[in-house]
Amino acid sequence: MDNYALPVQRLIEEFEKLPGIGRKTAQRLAFHVLNLPEEKVRNFANALVEAKAKIISCSICGNLTDTDPCRICSSTKRDHGIICVVQSPRDVVAMERVREYKGVYHVLNGLISPLDGTGPDDINIKSLIKRVAHNKVNEVILATNPNVEGEATAIYISKILKPMGVKTTRIAQGISVGGDLEYADEITLYKSLEGRREI
Ligand SMILES: [Zn+2]
Repeated sequence: MDNYALPVQRLIEEFEKLPGIGRKTAQRLAFHVLNLPEEKVRNFANALVEAKAKIISCSICGNLTDTDPCRICSSTKRDHGIICVVQSPRDVVAMERVREYKGVYHVLNGLISPLDGTGPDDINIKSLIKRVAHNKVNEVILATNPNVEGEATAIYISKILKPMGVKTTRIAQGISVGGDLEYADEITLYKSLEGRREI
């Protein structure tokens, strides 16, 4: 173990727990923080604690929000008859860059992945089915990523929704197989949305 004073060591360890941060980067960030004026460090710490305290899951769509229902679910300008199903809140941000989309969302917070031990009950599928059953929904767009888990999840959901008489579509493969919605540009996302087909 490196020879740092204990509080520094602890700070490095906390940074290292973040996704994509290795030991070297964690050290760099820790020393960056130590060089900041105290006020800036406080602002940073407060932002972390406040975000955690104030952000909740929308009781309708599962997206992260500071109001319940979230701004999209409570908007009168959105088409509540079209639900776009995505894996994570980050995908909502990506889809919102496609300004043409005026429907609402349902955030699964995961994908079915038998290898990781994630089954249908571990993600927000039940709430989606309830939502479709109790509201007038014209179309459910399955916009999970085009990888094995994303496809399996889309097929699983469509098999439940179809007998309920709701039109179920899958976004087109404009996004490369194994690709990520989050990193797709607006035009690719728009095209994959436009080219969606019924499944
Ligand atoms: Zn919502």
